[in-house]
Amino acid sequence: MTKTMEWVVVGAGPAGIAAVGKLLDAGIHPQAILWLDPHFKVGDFGTAWAHVGSNTPVEYFLKFYQHAKAFAYTHVNRPPFMIDKIDPGKNCPLIIAAQPLHWITTQLRNRVSSLTDTVLHLSRANPQHWGLTLASGQVIYTKKVLLTIGGEAKTLNFNDIPTIPLKTALHLEKLTATIQPDDRVIVFGASQSAKNVMENLLQLNTQHPLLFYRSERSLERHFKTELLAKFTQLPITPRHLLNYMPNCTKIIYAIGFERRHIPIKGLADHYDYDPNTGEIAPGIFGLGMAFPEILPYELGQAEYRVTAIWPFMKRLQKLLPGWLN
Ligand SMILES: Cc1cc2nc3c(=O)[nH]c(=O)nc-3n(C[C@H](O)[C@H](O)[C@H](O)COP(=O)(O)OP(=O)(O)OC[C@H]3O[C@@H](n4cnc5c(N)ncnc54)[C@H](O)[C@@H]3O)c2cc1C
Repeated sequence: MTKTMEWVVVGAGPAGIAAVGKLLDAGIHPQAILWLDPHFKVGDFGTAWAHVGSNTPVEYFLKFYQHAKAFAYTHVNRPPFMIDKIDPGKNCPLIIAAQPLHWITTQLRNRVSSLTDTVLHLSRANPQHWGLTLASGQVIYTKKVLLTIGGEAKTLNFNDIPTIPLKTALHLEKLTATIQPDDRVIVFGASQSAKNVMENLLQLNTQHPLLFYRSERSLERHFKTELLAKFTQLPITPRHLLNYMPNCTKIIYAIGFERRHIPIKGLADHYDYDPNTGEIAPGIFGLGMAFPEILPYELGQAEYRVTAIWPFMKRLQKLLPGWLN
């Protein structure tokens, strides 16, 4: 079976939801849009991180839901959601923030074409169209493609020590099932996720969990002093690694994310994107965690990747007019 579309949006996490909503708001005909995802469960936001507390306040989720007319979130007859009752200045578990996004996904899927499928690769079909080959064997032809495929947690190469996946470490019940009483766990990272993992390990009374960090600034930004007082944290240095790794029985990496990959024929394996325009190749664009906005740190020493969902919407608002032309 073959199909020809105007736009194909790949991925149904928050960035894909934003994209479909804003394409409809821009007047693209619903049946000219095809939306692809193997699950349609609000991406990692709605699944892997659902049990984590948010690091942004509720008001930013509300702004996201209200920003696209096509979401119909402000309609009087939409169902009530738990988030409606939470103070907009407070944070909430992501499972609560994801509830309206599941509903919005259904609203959008009722309008646009959608397929529960995975894109295997892209190639130029002719000067006007890209071809997307799907896991089911279908090939879809389209003028424009928007990749919103998210990322996977990065790891390092201490291959002889068992690793607890970040998704497990951030889920208290799943983590409980993975840790033995005599485990000596080392966490790598100084991110918000590293903080959540550490809190889980402390709650489980894990023996002397240790944290290796690279950026003291990030540590100060994400960890309160009272929390830092409860465990040992050390900068990653060869000496510290030599001293502590031999006793370590389990590792958890909370060191950021790397983009999921869809090969594009004609581009290098590790193709990049223009961070100013989101363009990957003519007619192929990227948005969301995989293709974020990049800002310099205030002190200029490193880049800062913007990966919260409200900024995806703002970025889309800015870039979409260029993509439509
Ligand atoms: C611990 C933690 C806490 C967070 N807290 C917050 C918060 O409080 N506030 C906030 O705004 N953000 C928060 N975030 C960030 C937020 O979760 C991510 O920015 C968001 O999930 C990324 O959305 P996305 O749509 O880019 O990617 P994802 O949510 O990963 O969705 C990508 C989708 O693409 C699909 N896909 C991938 N490859 C293919 C393919 N080949 N074919 C078809 N489909 C494909 C996947 O199935 C998935 O559904 C948090 C993140 C973490 C890790």
